Amino acid sequence: LVVLSKVNKHFGALHVLQDIDLTIGRGEVVVVIGPSGSGKSTLCRTINRLETIDDGAITIDGLPLPQEGKELARLRADVGMVFQSFNLFAHKTVLQNVMLGQVKVRKAEKGAAEEKARQLLDRVGVGSQADKYPAQLSGGQQQRVAIARALAMDPKVMLFDEPTSALDPEMINEVLEVMQQLAQEGMTMVVVTHEMGFARSAANRVVFMADGRIVEEATPDKFFSAPRSDRAKDFLSKIL
Ligand code: ATP
Ligand code: MG
Repeated sequence: LVVLSKVNKHFGALHVLQDIDLTIGRGEVVVVIGPSGSGKSTLCRTINRLETIDDGAITIDGLPLPQEGKELARLRADVGMVFQSFNLFAHKTVLQNVMLGQVKVRKAEKGAAEEKARQLLDRVGVGSQADKYPAQLSGGQQQRVAIARALAMDPKVMLFDEPTSALDPEMINEVLEVMQQLAQEGMTMVVVTHEMGFARSAANRVVFMADGRIVEEATPDKFFSAPRSDRAKDFLSKIL
């Protein structure tokens, strides 16, 4: 569904993504891990073209990711993104946050957008918060709203960049549970996370990055029990 071939990206002298080849199949859940600065966020951001690439190619559902224009807006809407910081619109209610993209980008009719927003909010367990403003919600609730907002666009793939890193410990699980459920329902997902429990239980594949390269790719079972590279062994010894 998502194919990156020989993707390279520099920030000035820094070669932040080096010859990245990665194929994410429909319904697959890929967890990306690696040390700080290894390029995980940049990788996510290239998949929805928040970052341009220097060379290589990215296709989503067979269509090349264009550099700009209407085509880009449409393709980008197929890629849902959830960040560490929840990025909700502070001056809009929870319900309005989830309706906005549907109306503006997908050109949905208001009534239909509202109905869908309410269904999604129920699904992530915050249906009763629909008329509140983001600041009135806990971090875990806000992040679940952010997930609902992304889902409202009917994305083909969902990208999560450390979605639980900014949360208090007791709120992490409520967000992971929503993600776990999405995974079970067959959503195609790329998840950057330090939650190794989630990686073990939800991932089809773990991708380990270091210094802008994919160093190792394996099933979670294999990766956690028998990492092949020294970089991965070293990384795991620090976090497990
Ligand atoms: P972390 O685990 O800390 O989130 P990461 O693996 O997500 O790290 P990236 O955020 O992708 O790493 O950053 C990779 C490298 O690129 C880092 O050295 C970072 O400083 C650099 N970098 C990221 N964004 C930019 C930018 N806009 N301009 C210049 N350098 C950048
Ligand atoms: Mg990052």
